[in-house]
Amino acid sequence: MSFSADIITLFPDLFPGPLGASVLGRGLSDDLWSLRATNLRDFATDKHRTVDDSPSGGGAGMVLKPDILAAAIDTIAPQGDPRPRILMSPRGKPLTQKRARELALGPGAVIVCGRFEGIDQRVIDGRQLEEISIGDYVLAGGEVAAMVLLEAVVRLIPGVLGGVDSHADESFENGLLEYPQYTRPQSFEGVDIPAVLTSGDHGKIAKWRGEQSLAITAARRPDLMAAYSSPKRPKA
Ligand code: SAH
Repeated sequence: MSFSADIITLFPDLFPGPLGASVLGRGLSDDLWSLRATNLRDFATDKHRTVDDSPSGGGAGMVLKPDILAAAIDTIAPQGDPRPRILMSPRGKPLTQKRARELALGPGAVIVCGRFEGIDQRVIDGRQLEEISIGDYVLAGGEVAAMVLLEAVVRLIPGVLGGVDSHADESFENGLLEYPQYTRPQSFEGVDIPAVLTSGDHGKIAKWRGEQSLAITAARRPDLMAAYSSPKRPKA
């Protein structure tokens, strides 16, 4: 069974959007993964198709109603559906390459996109939604965040990105940022490709790349460097 993604959103027409382009789009047409976006409004029960209401306790904006959202989740992922249920949320755990890799090995994901001020806490608790954030800033809705999550996950599904080794050296895969990349022409605006890369000496190249990776990570991301240098770091 291939990776199956279900999105619950007020804007299903936004999908697949960028997920339909390039290798991810090819993966979709080749059935390496599947994507379905369902309109939350289809689960509204009144004639105005209401999905939100004002926040209890007062304040600005609107909150997505728990009964409507729970009905959508229960229809799309009935009990026994093995896929994790995710809520895109600025209060969630920051998305990591590690979580993306775990999700890519699993059966798929059911992803809830919030809008307005967010969603009623009781549906987060009652449906055990895993809250995931794509960064410390606030978006207008969860749709773009869901695309970010899926793009990070789907490119890791075997077969989607071609080369088996294409992930091994990437940023974050070993806890470090990637080394600089070059390609022809040999000389660009008076700057040559570093000689080691055209030396043909694979040992030297690997050593140079490792050093560059460490230097760039140390300069830009002391947090990653500290975790990498920590004695508790699990050895790959
Ligand atoms: N009032 C909320 C923000 C609501 S933004 C708060 O302060 O926490 C509306 C929706 O956009 C959210 O429900 C969520 O689904 C999505 N969203 C906003 N920022 C996000 C982020 N950084 N990561 C993931 N989803 C986000």
